[in-house]
Amino acid sequence: MQKFNTTEHPHRRYNPLLDEWILVSPHRAKRPWQGQKESIAVDNRPEYDPSCYLCAGNTRSNGVQNEAYTDCFVFENDFSALLKEEVAFDDNNSDLFNLKPERGINKVVCFSPKHNLTLPEMSIESLEKVVETWKQEYTTLGAIDYINYVQIFENKGSVMGCSNPHPHGQIWAQSSLPTQVQKTQDNLLKYYNSKNTSLLKAYLEQELELKERVVIENEHFAVVVPFWAIWPYETLVISKRHVENITQFTSE
Ligand SMILES: [Zn+2]
Repeated sequence: MQKFNTTEHPHRRYNPLLDEWILVSPHRAKRPWQGQKESIAVDNRPEYDPSCYLCAGNTRSNGVQNEAYTDCFVFENDFSALLKEEVAFDDNNSDLFNLKPERGINKVVCFSPKHNLTLPEMSIESLEKVVETWKQEYTTLGAIDYINYVQIFENKGSVMGCSNPHPHGQIWAQSSLPTQVQKTQDNLLKYYNSKNTSLLKAYLEQELELKERVVIENEHFAVVVPFWAIWPYETLVISKRHVENITQFTSE
């Protein structure tokens, strides 16, 4: 019988953050690929695009004109997935046809007035302003009585369904915790209560020792491809300093 080898034999890997197992089939990477191939899009965007609804001074489809902003610019998404208004709701659903209304606020954050930039091309000073904006929004939105979760994210590229190439991200603030976030919180707490140390701290220490999946690290952060990654380019950014949330990041 062959001896088990992680690079050859199908196996399951445990994701301790979600308490779930994923299937890994390393031998499948050897099969010939005749499916879709993505070509690299040519990027020849101008610094200002008069037809872009995120560029400074331009008018959006709902008729509102953007400020002549010079660094970050935040506005409420004109096509919000979540709505602020409270609705009257009688919870008389059956077990198998269960639903609950969800309230929230969706914002758009333009990182720069320059249409042709992306985050890694921006100066450290400009990036600091982006993080400061995230911190402010996290604090302001999080203080609203019906908001219990604030998600800051960027969907980038047309493959990801990003509708505009202008450098921007989104913030979703909502009344309930998304399932994966709730599960992660529960599992982090469970680990801490049983081992008396943080799961991510223990995980990072071992990854930094193994040095198999560390993409990059500096004094403050490490980027690893998680042991339980599902996607080929999946990465996890872990702060080396214990912080509860983004407001505790310093300019250092
Ligand atoms: Zn633009």
